[in-house]
Amino acid sequence: MTENHAPADAVILGLRGLMGDAHVLDRADEMSPYLTDWRKRFTGSALCVVRPGSTAEVSSVVQFVAQHGLAIVPQGGNTGLVGGSVPLGRGDEIILSLARMNTIREVDPRSDVMVVEAGVTLAAVQQAAETADRLFPLSLASEGTATIGGVIGTNAGGTAVLAYGNMRDLVLGLEVVLADGRIWNGLGKLRKDNAGYDLRNMFIGSEGTLGIVTAAVVKLFPAPKSRATCVCGLASPDDALAFLQIAKAAAGTSLTTFELIPRLGLDLVLKHIPNTRDPIFEEHAWYVLLEFSSQSTDGADALAQAVMMEAVDKAYVEDGVFAVSLEQRDDFWRLRESLPEAQTREGYSVKHDISVPLDCLADLIAAVSAEAQTMIEGIRPLPFGHLGDGNLHFNFQSPEGTDGSDLKAHAGALHAMVYRYVLAMKGSISAEHGIGQVKRAQLAATKDPVGLDMMRKLKAALDPDGRLNPGKVI
Ligand code: ZN
Repeated sequence: MTENHAPADAVILGLRGLMGDAHVLDRADEMSPYLTDWRKRFTGSALCVVRPGSTAEVSSVVQFVAQHGLAIVPQGGNTGLVGGSVPLGRGDEIILSLARMNTIREVDPRSDVMVVEAGVTLAAVQQAAETADRLFPLSLASEGTATIGGVIGTNAGGTAVLAYGNMRDLVLGLEVVLADGRIWNGLGKLRKDNAGYDLRNMFIGSEGTLGIVTAAVVKLFPAPKSRATCVCGLASPDDALAFLQIAKAAAGTSLTTFELIPRLGLDLVLKHIPNTRDPIFEEHAWYVLLEFSSQSTDGADALAQAVMMEAVDKAYVEDGVFAVSLEQRDDFWRLRESLPEAQTREGYSVKHDISVPLDCLADLIAAVSAEAQTMIEGIRPLPFGHLGDGNLHFNFQSPEGTDGSDLKAHAGALHAMVYRYVLAMKGSISAEHGIGQVKRAQLAATKDPVGLDMMRKLKAALDPDGRLNPGKVI
């Protein structure tokens, strides 16, 4: 911090003058949920938490902050995984929670769009789409809490990216409050608009460092008439990739999910998560959870049957089961979605969120797993996740029966080793979780220098005083 800012009492008084006492929180007990992320890995301090109820109020808070030499940490559902939504505790930060901006402004099924404010939860957007007989496809484990502003800020991915893309692909327009308090009304519903630079994409994935997203126009899709969900057992990631090719060739964008789970992951889920059971009678080294969606009532089942038959025929798949009820579909999904929780319950783990071209993925799993085992005896590699997108959560569980201290001591060396392979394969050190405060140094060390320079110039142009989410991303 290089400048003197106004004393805390004056700041709180000034902000209360702008939006009333009830929406400026400064008591420790009121503030604490905003100061720590949901996994309780990052905690900071802030002068106060403000909860504006409109875009105009967000703008007036930003202007106030600029006048008083302060900084803003924008916050949605606070479910991020890289510490991007919690303050660093520099002494000049206020948290701006968008939770009260939770209005769905418009559902327009004829244009297949919805206009939503930043604080609407992802689950509420999915629900509103369903009510209009449409689909909003972005889906992730924290969707009941994660907000639209947050998933835009982080360009969230999840389990339907294979067919529908990341959040970036689902946004048509944005309303953004800039660092000087001006409001950019970019809430267009257009699918084609080449009138100048694409400003919208600059803010998506910027983690609140370039502007504060207050509302968005999101795309809607036809609601699928049928879904088929399967779990398959396979011998290797190579077979899983061959299976993926078959499934994509047969189903195209009707293949909406293709998730990889190693046997260890399934074992941990069965051990720690109640109401789970082995989906296939015999054990397999690897599993794939896949889902097909179709616009005809029996289309998904037919597709799934045909794909499975071909894959078994070619010996890429050893065995497979179909969900025969919604309940069983939920059971299959629980196996995948409980993996992070099962890992936590098992003990200490080291995590990575990486992507590489699909062509390199099997080699990456083999090479990284082998090298990790030479570094720490008994280490348990646990690469799982969005195989269809080339995105793995390449995690490591501590050796069985240990307290994890050995793994903890080697965490830095493990990160370096994983990123060495990933970068050599022209992959990404952050496929879907973003940079936040966790990977800032790694980004600076590994990003193409010209790319990094353009990022710095963008930041300097849009937030010259560094008031928006300082210490994050860049
Ligand atoms: Zn993921």
